[in-house]
Amino acid sequence: MDSTRSVHEAEPFDEQSGSLTTPIYETSTFGFARADEVPRAVAGERGFVYSRWDNPTVVRLEKKLAAFEHGGDGAAFSSGMAAISTAILSFLKKGAHVLAIRDLYGGTYGLLRDILPDMGFSTDLVETTDFGALEKGVRKSTSIVYIESPTNPTMKIVDIDRAARLAHRNGAVLMVDNTFASPINQNPIDFGADIVLHSVTKYINGHADLIAGAVVASKKNAHKIKMMRRDFGGTLDPLPAWLILRGMKTMALRVRRQNENAMVLAEFLSSHKKVAKVHYPGLKTHPQYQLAKKQMKGFGGMLSFEIRGTTRDAMKFTESVKVATLAASLGGVETLVSQPYNMTHTQMSAKERALMGMPETLVRVSVGIEDADDLVDDFRRALAAV
Ligand code: PLP
Repeated sequence: MDSTRSVHEAEPFDEQSGSLTTPIYETSTFGFARADEVPRAVAGERGFVYSRWDNPTVVRLEKKLAAFEHGGDGAAFSSGMAAISTAILSFLKKGAHVLAIRDLYGGTYGLLRDILPDMGFSTDLVETTDFGALEKGVRKSTSIVYIESPTNPTMKIVDIDRAARLAHRNGAVLMVDNTFASPINQNPIDFGADIVLHSVTKYINGHADLIAGAVVASKKNAHKIKMMRRDFGGTLDPLPAWLILRGMKTMALRVRRQNENAMVLAEFLSSHKKVAKVHYPGLKTHPQYQLAKKQMKGFGGMLSFEIRGTTRDAMKFTESVKVATLAASLGGVETLVSQPYNMTHTQMSAKERALMGMPETLVRVSVGIEDADDLVDDFRRALAAV
């Protein structure tokens, strides 16, 4: 189903030209033969007006994303952060409160910790694995409950179904950043989420060659976010939309391979004497393995592990790998390693990083599609160099 959908969903061959692949409508505006066609295009009923509003190539991508995430419609953005900030601001009115878990992607963390409070909204970031903290954090004014699962970089799992029920009991929406799992491994809408967010830069595009983002929601909520996008202007351009459509044809194949490779690496690392702890939701030793099993179809290509040693040892490991590369980002076909403490999470204070349970010795791995044996050999050699 997922592989068939990866290849065919929302991409019939082009009726006019017969082109098998989706044409790139690289145009800023659209011409009209008759003036009376304009109102229907403006109303979004037929035709297009201007590519910051909508564009045929981008719309194909949005339909495909909506199908993968089991939503009514999608909205594509020029980055994951454009999608996240526009979606959040679409649901905030004067005096509103946003409740979120503490383990968030750095950009989202900064938006909630600093930017929204500066704009007059209130926000709370609570302990990620204590559901009671989320329950206690809800206020009358809470209009958004915001979560990620699995979290970055320590792979904590948040109960999507419970979070959705909590949000809905209080008249709020549940937003879930599903970037780490990918739509192949997890579909938050099936568990009651209202808005699913993606850094398309990662697994969906899958080739580490562009920046993009997306929202999937009900038709009504997606429309609301698209109207906000028109004015904030973070719309995706047709050319990267086409590259993403191409990347998505292999999404199911890639992600399944990444799931398999990650499991092999997680098991290898678990038995290595220089590794103090492995964080991977597919390991039976993960404290939330049962919850991960309940809401994930695959355990994903992201894992992290703690080196037995010092920050210097973690740095040594990340520069000793040869198949993998020391780099930020994730979800591409190539394996990447990073030390989150010194790289992706530096905007957090030492105390905030400690609260998240992120030691300096933590190494994050985005597992690629290489041969598992080569990855294990690479990691074994790099650990020997520590
Ligand atoms: N959400 C998660 C979980 C991420 O890892 C990232 C980027 O690393 C983002 C959102 C932001 O996406 P982008 O870099 O495409 O703006």
